[in-house]
Amino acid sequence: MSRPYNFSAGPGALPESVLARAAAEMTNCAGSGMSVMEMSHRGKEFIKIAEEAEADLRELMGIPANYKVLFVQGGGMMQFSSVPLNLAADGDAVDYLKTGYWSDRAITEAKRYCQVNVVASGQPENYVSIPARDSWKTYKEASYFHYCANETIHGVEFHDVPDVGSVPLVCDMSSTILSRPIDVSKFGVIYAGAQKNIGPAGLTVVIVRDDLLERARPNIPYLLDYKTMADNGSMANTPPTYAWYIAGLVFKWIKEQGGLKAMAELNAAKSALLYKVIDESGFYKNPVHADCRSWMNVPFILPDEKLDKPFLEEAKAQGLLALAGHRSVGGMRASLYNATPLEGVEKLTQFMIDFAKRHR
Ligand code: PMP
Repeated sequence: MSRPYNFSAGPGALPESVLARAAAEMTNCAGSGMSVMEMSHRGKEFIKIAEEAEADLRELMGIPANYKVLFVQGGGMMQFSSVPLNLAADGDAVDYLKTGYWSDRAITEAKRYCQVNVVASGQPENYVSIPARDSWKTYKEASYFHYCANETIHGVEFHDVPDVGSVPLVCDMSSTILSRPIDVSKFGVIYAGAQKNIGPAGLTVVIVRDDLLERARPNIPYLLDYKTMADNGSMANTPPTYAWYIAGLVFKWIKEQGGLKAMAELNAAKSALLYKVIDESGFYKNPVHADCRSWMNVPFILPDEKLDKPFLEEAKAQGLLALAGHRSVGGMRASLYNATPLEGVEKLTQFMIDFAKRHR
């Protein structure tokens, strides 16, 4: 039986071949006689898995040698606290760009520790665009500049890396990491919860430039300190070993697909197809400006909320899962992460065209 297509925003779809390999290795990984879940994180079997995962991620993203890669816990949201605690002293001024729900949550958390300067906000327009670069009121002395590369709920995505001069650039890449090549050297810190394009929930990847490891405030919790994790190979305590292992399998899968350039081509094609069908339908609507529409999360509404339930039910019956929008905005949302094939989006758009015909 073929699997349904999963459009969940996260935890999201994983490549079927990765799941199959994990299943095959479930009770006996690489002849060890153990499941990865049963291995000591300090044993040679797991150390090999961990090191290979890091090496593959470094290769995929072209991570320069002067960056550490950390495999930590706590999700994207824990980084909302870790970033100010690691990079800014008590009361320091920090710049934040507000482009949607997640950057707003990051701002709320940073305010507990720092003086937050919101350089610009897309909120007055209901987060349908990225405020123009020349309208940003950046602060020269800011300890860092934080933004969210892809707003998972509002479907607003940066298609380039903003230039903020010499201020360290910090990016929440939770829902877009590995979807395309990026120049890591432009960033001070990149972080991403794993459960979208990397692997299972429970793992968070942090990529941090070496010179920023010395800035943490003295009372930072030991495990949140990037330097603690860097000095201990992310094993200052027990890491999320199974999630780390699956992430490693996903990195290998991406390499087999042709790397991030191939991912970018596929993701551009998938999202273009869906936006085209939405825009030409005269039925579905996505309000986001064309230049910052997300490749990863495509929110859309139907002409009448009463149609939401039948839309979701019929979609599910056709093997098109998890299309409900986030509870804070309603409507629909199709998340098109790396593991969602073009055929899944073709099937979704055929269904949408047919549904619109029947419910006009
Ligand atoms: N940032 C972004 C962009 C997200 O999409 C999410 C979760 N959907 C988070 C942060 C929070 O991540 P977590 O649930 O892993 O804490």
